[in-house]
Amino acid sequence: MVLATNLGFPRIGIDRELKKATESYWKGMGTRDDLLNTARELRLRHWKMQKEAGLNHIPSNDFSFYDHVLDMSCLLGCVPSRYKWDGKAIDLDLYFAMARGNDKVTAMEMTKWFDTNYHYIVPEFEPDQTFRLSGTKIFDEFEEAKKEGVMTRPVLVGPISYLLLGRKKAGADYCRCTLVPGLAAVYGEILKGLRDRGAEWVQIDEPFLALDLEDRYKDAYKTAYKLIRATAPDIKIMLTTYFEALGDNLDLASGLPVQGIHLDLRRAPGQLEPALKKFPADKILSLGLVDGRNIWKNNLSVSLDLAEKAVAALGKDRVFVAPSCSLLHSPIDLTQETVLDAGVKSWMAFARQKLDEIAVLAKGLGEGRSAISAALEESDKVAEDRRTSARIHNQGVKKRVQSVSPDMLRRKNPFSTRRKQQHEALGLPAYPTTSIGSFPQTEEIRKARAAFKKGSLDEAAYEKAMKKEIEHVVRWQEKADMDVLVHGEAERNDMVEYFGEQLSGFAFTKNGWVQSYGSRCVKPPVIFGDVSRPAPMTVKWSAYAQSLTAKPMKGMLTGPITILCWSFVRDDQSREETCRQIALAIRDEVQDLEKAGIGVIQIDEPAIREGLPLRRRDWGPYLKWAVDCFKLGTTGVEDRTQIHTHMCYSQFNDIIDSVGALDADVISIETSRSQMMLLDAFVKYKYPNEIGPGVWDIHSPRIPSAGEMTDLLEKAAAVIDPAQIWVNPDCGLKTRGWKEVEAALNNMVAAAKLMRAKKQSAAA
Ligand code: GLN
Ligand code: ZN
Repeated sequence: MVLATNLGFPRIGIDRELKKATESYWKGMGTRDDLLNTARELRLRHWKMQKEAGLNHIPSNDFSFYDHVLDMSCLLGCVPSRYKWDGKAIDLDLYFAMARGNDKVTAMEMTKWFDTNYHYIVPEFEPDQTFRLSGTKIFDEFEEAKKEGVMTRPVLVGPISYLLLGRKKAGADYCRCTLVPGLAAVYGEILKGLRDRGAEWVQIDEPFLALDLEDRYKDAYKTAYKLIRATAPDIKIMLTTYFEALGDNLDLASGLPVQGIHLDLRRAPGQLEPALKKFPADKILSLGLVDGRNIWKNNLSVSLDLAEKAVAALGKDRVFVAPSCSLLHSPIDLTQETVLDAGVKSWMAFARQKLDEIAVLAKGLGEGRSAISAALEESDKVAEDRRTSARIHNQGVKKRVQSVSPDMLRRKNPFSTRRKQQHEALGLPAYPTTSIGSFPQTEEIRKARAAFKKGSLDEAAYEKAMKKEIEHVVRWQEKADMDVLVHGEAERNDMVEYFGEQLSGFAFTKNGWVQSYGSRCVKPPVIFGDVSRPAPMTVKWSAYAQSLTAKPMKGMLTGPITILCWSFVRDDQSREETCRQIALAIRDEVQDLEKAGIGVIQIDEPAIREGLPLRRRDWGPYLKWAVDCFKLGTTGVEDRTQIHTHMCYSQFNDIIDSVGALDADVISIETSRSQMMLLDAFVKYKYPNEIGPGVWDIHSPRIPSAGEMTDLLEKAAAVIDPAQIWVNPDCGLKTRGWKEVEAALNNMVAAAKLMRAKKQSAAA
């Protein structure tokens, strides 16, 4: 028999019950029992759902109140010293303090989970770090399910991935490998505890096995699993890898003392063949066939083509069917989508539907294709429909992408030529001031937008409200004596959704929530078809804003890579192809803005870096097409039109060549928090164009003084030519209040003026 298995289910609940209960608990409105009950209900509901779908291996401990890596830290007793933990049971309040801080203690750091939009809490290792079994959650949830008649397969983050996800604190000058024996001992105890309670299998996630690994960590894998086995010899371990191919770590994984290995065959179908060639005779192969990261129906025929090879090589008893990774990254239930276009909906599957796909694939493998002929026929029909649908395929767009010529990927003239023209056209002072685009999104703005969406505010009234807001923002910037103004982005709900809603080829779900971090969920747009721009998207607002002032108004767009990275994308063509289509739509918008008299246009690309593939060897090709797409979007303008871009993260060292290759006339970046340290990459690279190193950390409610900002600008001017420097905050202001914005921007303009005066007196 081929078993149907799952690696993890979304925790948040179809109505985001967990989010609501958690936030209510945080606010002191809901009690601890309310929260515990909601959590329990969700777990039981999800186990039952999986059982009813016919799953043979159902995960437990995939539930979390905030994050499963934080749960692991609690289980292992890895609590940073600043929480003054007494070593006893870690209660909810301590747990949430670690996750999000409180008025007495700061939170632990949070960062992205591989290349997903899920964020985990980064384990912190003290100089004298030790580990000790410190929780019962994993046992409690196993027993809880057992009591309900569900024998689950508990899930854990594996020891080496746990170590590699974590960071050493200052003063901890050892290799993380030295923590392996202590860590493995606790893992051994956990596994033994699970076995004693009746668990047959446990799932250990080791996604780092699919990444580039240093030799010392390869050795760490061998040591850790050997030690674990010494304590827990007879529980079966399913070792899972995902998001990439095992690749050069295939031998390493095959040699570990585990009973099963899981491969992501959605991301890396090509790894099946080499794996089958030398798959160890004592192991089971878990096939990650159903995409845990996207929302498309599985092409059952294609999956079976692949999976049948595994069955032929290993036999039915040594093959499991599974999703590619945990379903944590998919929305929960498609049947809840009542307004989604029926055609688009018929192509999609959310977590609940994916369970059925796993079950049907297992059945098809176990009993033959004829046993699932109806499902196969249906799946083939969907595939054919998507291959031919006029809703998806737009020959005009495809031809246009194909006919992109090299001269469409570069500006007419080099920066030095453009710069002269831009300076003439714009007449800006030294150290010109600007902002990143958005101004505070006040309650009033949000209400107007919601009312317009609901239909209770008509278009004319909505437009009037937005224009009033724009006028206010423009007047304020004039009064503050800023140099390049913005319209404030009041009309935008979200920097991707706003554009997606106006482009063809995008769909939006009503309830397609995916956990981003803690109680925070996002609802990514769905790119289902060829992308085109039926009409201008921002020109009306920018042109209106420009009409109010003699100062230059900056047009604001989201770039193609960011739109791609923050959406569910097509699986029937490459990301690159989709990105080029979006880039062409942006190109049209940029040209229309120029035609409407907008002489400065900013294209935000905060996601370029997070789009980097997980394996270094894939970076080059990605960066090449990403740069091409940015340029395709931005180079269709005259020399005198100034193109800005903005990126809001801190790590440029790895990608600085590509950032330079974007050839934006001006780039604004985040640097204030690191005291301009991040400029290093730009200095080493001798960045030739203009640059606005953020002087105000807008993520903090603190208002920096003019003196502080002047100091930062001095630091910048010491390492780059002052003629290249712009003065701006380090990100958009939409989450800040007007009071802070007024004070901080006034200080910022004062700082710029001080720098100008200094420059002049130095020249005199
Ligand atoms: N223009 C956007 C804003 O100002 C940029 C947001 C971002 O960088 N994430 O809000
Ligand atoms: Zn930003």
